[in-house]
Amino acid sequence: MAQIINGKEISAKVRRDIALKVEELKKRGITPGLAVVIVGEDPASKVYVRNKHRACEETGIYSEVCELPESTTEEELLALIDKLNADDKIHGILVQLPLPSHLDDKAVIERIDPRKDVDAFSAVNVGKIMLGEYDFLPCTPAGVMELLNESGIDPSGKECVIVGRSNIVGKPQAMLMLHANATVTICHSRTRELAEVTRRADIIVAALGKAKFITGDMIKEGAVVIDVGINRLPDGKLCGDVDFESAEPKASYITPVPGGVGPMTITMLLQNTLKAAELKLK
Ligand code: NDP
Repeated sequence: MAQIINGKEISAKVRRDIALKVEELKKRGITPGLAVVIVGEDPASKVYVRNKHRACEETGIYSEVCELPESTTEEELLALIDKLNADDKIHGILVQLPLPSHLDDKAVIERIDPRKDVDAFSAVNVGKIMLGEYDFLPCTPAGVMELLNESGIDPSGKECVIVGRSNIVGKPQAMLMLHANATVTICHSRTRELAEVTRRADIIVAALGKAKFITGDMIKEGAVVIDVGINRLPDGKLCGDVDFESAEPKASYITPVPGGVGPMTITMLLQNTLKAAELKLK
């Protein structure tokens, strides 16, 4: 039977540490500040933004939510980014993606000052991650590394298989595992004999966006199973990319959905905002 990696508990612990550091920084005259920009009325995005705002308040981080109408032009959005880039109260800027289709996600992300790009999505920050000289790590992969670290799992020398190669999760996750000295394989929709590859893994990170896709027969006895997926089932319940029922009896450690990787993503955003404020002080 697997040990459950409790993302809620680990996240609460990390947030307590962040709150203490925020308090220390405030004593030195700096309050870390995060601006979250949301364009349009997407209900899921609104929930995410609300959660981010609440998490900031709980840890003492100043937060501003900039809500713009769906009709916002790219020029208007870029002007807002310029204003936030120049705002001394704001150390981190996050643009909630996806943007409405008439806006160019890439152009908007690239306009954020890399020192305030707390999602670490810009080309400069992605390049720094490749070089291993980063200030910020993308929140979800960084959250996964923190979960492993807090659970006493060292990826060094282990076979790590990542299913998914997106710019937000799969690719940066692979790079972080490599920095942690794992032997890394990245799988995607064209991978042949996926189960044969995943069965080699000491650590599997599932980030493909397909409900319950990774089943018990695809994992090795004793593997660590990290489920990044968030999928909504027809009955409204959330589930991951791993079939928990069949994977759990074979895994040594496993993250549940919800309550695994999810809570860590916002926590890492808070950590990046704190780091941005600390860097400014230096
Ligand atoms: P994307 O859709 O951008 O990428 C999915 C990746 O999975 C692609 O690389 C795709 O391959 C690969 N893939 C799809 N189907 C298969 C298959 N049958 N076999 C092997 N590989 C496959 O997703 P994201 O990376 O953005 O997100 C992945 C999951 O993680 C989603 O469920 C998302 O909701 C969740 N997520 C959770 C977060 C959290 O905070 N916990 C944060 C971000 C995402 P190809 O490139 O060939 O198309």
